[in-house]
This record gives sequence, structure tokens and C-alpha cells, in this order.
Amino acid sequence: MAGQPMPGFVTRFAPSPTGPLHLGHAYSAMLAHDMARAAGGRFLLRMEDTDLERCRPEWEAAIVEDLRWLGLDWDGPIHRQSPHIEAYNARLEPLAEGGLVYPCSCTRGDIRAALAAPQEGVVHAVYPGTCRGRSMESRQPGDALRLDLARALTHLADADLSFLETGPAHEGCHRIDPDRARREIGDVVLSRKGENFVAYFLASAFDDADQGITHVIRGEDLFDFTPVQVILQHLFGLPTPVYHHHRLIRDEAGRRLAKRDDARAIAKYRAEGATPADIRRMVGL
Ligand SMILES: [Zn+2]
Repeated sequence: MAGQPMPGFVTRFAPSPTGPLHLGHAYSAMLAHDMARAAGGRFLLRMEDTDLERCRPEWEAAIVEDLRWLGLDWDGPIHRQSPHIEAYNARLEPLAEGGLVYPCSCTRGDIRAALAAPQEGVVHAVYPGTCRGRSMESRQPGDALRLDLARALTHLADADLSFLETGPAHEGCHRIDPDRARREIGDVVLSRKGENFVAYFLASAFDDADQGITHVIRGEDLFDFTPVQVILQHLFGLPTPVYHHHRLIRDEAGRRLAKRDDARAIAKYRAEGATPADIRRMVGL
């Protein structure tokens, strides 16, 4: 993409302020920044801070300081998600009216018990649909709101459910197979009543559209979220950006860096006298 001026190019770095910026985050931020600047486009900073228990203003301040130290500049103010949780949830109203979501009171234990056997090749337990068919009127505080995926896919029967991927591991056009989506995604939780909660992939889909993001650049670990985001984009009439899932930075043992891998925190390298150029070399940029 470098060298090709794309003035319409808008991307973002969207960390959760739940811990220090480590090498993996730094790689993601620098790659998105570099791709935006090479394209003559915009680079935005978003704090995905909807997890009110774990997000802290001091982590946000530390992340911002590390990003500035790395030499990254972003366009416009930082966008924080936490003040908008209610607004994200309010946007589910048309889906509720269309019968595409339903309340669910199942616990993790209920779900495990209802699943006859572990499903092969599925990384998380797909919800067995116990509460499907419950009316919105039966919704109680604490109930989750689940997407009725089968109904949503029927509703979108004529839609072009696909996305363009430019990342190295999955490069090409990906068409979402409805049968596979039912098998592997299922009726995901979008929100939880009275708990100030919104699903990560929902808030992120809304923000990508609201901020005019044309290219989502993020780690390969989020590739599996893309089909559900594309389905939501179509349900809400939002555009689908181009996706670029990049390689993950791994430790010497080949494990991907944990959320709070203090040993690889940028702050630690800084304290040891590393320069931004050293960090770039370490992540292969
Ligand atoms: Zn349920």
C-alpha cells in the first residue's frame, strides 16, 4: 500500500486502557500509523474503555505517553467509548422491534449443560438457543440481549456478506457462509440490561462507521470477530471497511504476548534506555 496516495484512507488504533502498552500494541499502533501516513490518510486514536471494571484513566495516560514517545501523532481528539454505552445500546432498538434479538438469562453453567457434546473446531461454546423465542417484554434486569443469528441471516438473504482482507495470513475477499456462521458464531450477546455493558464487536462496528474508518488494522487474534461485525454492519446499514489483520508479536517461546506482559511493556524498555528506533527494530518495522 505504501507509495500509493489514498486520501480517503482512515484508520485507527483502538487499545483498551487495562494495562501498559506492550510490544504487540506498539507494533499495531505503529503499523496503522505508518499505513495511514503512507497513504496520505488519517490516523485516529480510540480508547475501547467499555469494561468499566478493568479500564483506568491512569492506563490511558500511560498509553498516550508511550504512543507520543514512539513518535506517533493522531488526528483529532481521542475518542472514548465509555460515555456512549447507553447510546450504543439504544441503537439496538430497531433490531428488537424487528424481532432479531431476544433476552437471555442463561448462566455459563446453563449453557454448558445444554450443549450435548463439545463441538469440534469451535473455539468458544456456541449458545444452544435455550432462550430463543423469548419476547422482549420478558426482559429482566441482568438479562443479556442476544442476536437471533438465523433470523438475522434470513433478513440479510440478499445482502453481499463479504469483506476484503489485505493482511498477509488471510489476504483476499472473504464471503460469509451463513451455515458456517450459524455453526461457529451463533446467537452472540450484544448487550446486558442494567449492567452498563456492550459487546466489544458491536461498539467497535458502530465506532468504525461513525468515525469513517475505511481500513481496520488490528491483530490476527481478532480475525474471527470479523464475520459477526460484517453481519452487524449490514443489519445497521453501515459500510464494511477493508480489514488488515497483522501478525502477532510473540515471545521467545512463540507465545503471543499477554494483555499484561509487564516484561515487554514499552515503559520498561524506555526505562532501560531503548529508543523508538530500537522498538521498531524489535517488532520488525
Ligand atoms: Zn438463555
